[in-house]
Amino acid sequence: MSAEEKQVKLKGKVIIQGKINCETGLRIGGARESLEIGGLENIMIRDAITNEPYIPGSSLKGKMRSLLEKAYGKEIDIKNRKDIHTCSNPQCEVCRVFGVPAEETEKATEGLLLTRLYVRDGRLTDESRKKLDELREELEVPYGEVKWENVINRLTSKANPRQVERVPAGTSFDFDMVYNIYEEEDINYLKYVFQAQRLVEDDYLGGYGSRGYGKVNFSGIKIVFNGLSEVYEMGEKGKTICENKRPDELLKEFDKIKEDLERELKQPT
Ligand SMILES: [Zn+2]
Repeated sequence: MSAEEKQVKLKGKVIIQGKINCETGLRIGGARESLEIGGLENIMIRDAITNEPYIPGSSLKGKMRSLLEKAYGKEIDIKNRKDIHTCSNPQCEVCRVFGVPAEETEKATEGLLLTRLYVRDGRLTDESRKKLDELREELEVPYGEVKWENVINRLTSKANPRQVERVPAGTSFDFDMVYNIYEEEDINYLKYVFQAQRLVEDDYLGGYGSRGYGKVNFSGIKIVFNGLSEVYEMGEKGKTICENKRPDELLKEFDKIKEDLERELKQPT
């Protein structure tokens, strides 16, 4: 077995949960099932069963990744029509955290193949669901509002007013991320998750960002470490590392978070 083929073993999972709060209207586009005449052109993505809007984990993760790529000046392989950066450097701030797509597998080392970060779909908080339910009479669509946006056709320069469905400002979603620890060094890279969250706060989620849509912030972040044997073998509860934080606070306190996680990882089992 060569050095590159070293066996990787899960050591534990860091659970990162909190809220994403919409400071402005948020529009993440959905696919229309049927073409209704007079229907909304730009519908937002909704859960097929509950009809509630949600933030797809892939959208949030994609945005976090692309902002981190820009922050570190990562090369994007435009020639091969790739819109994301991938490489086989195990120390890469982006690929180590966000993973490498399956088609890149041959050139990636085994350890790098494993995606550290999973981002689950963000669901309406109970509080926001209740508030939007109460506003049902006033809202044009369930859990949403409809705005007119004047979109200029780039070819004809003609104004093309269209209706855009979006989540109203003030709505919050619960987010849920899992960061897998395979090697002790992975703890250092957890910082890039908080950095990416902080970057998202000064960028936008979803569409129409240049029109002010999609300004969000993260709050109430709780970090729990689930050690492999304590939690997944013995059924114990995970160890809470910190609670009720924002990304900027997590970045400032990262040395302490790192120390705590390293100590948990070294716990004799
Ligand atoms: Zn990379």
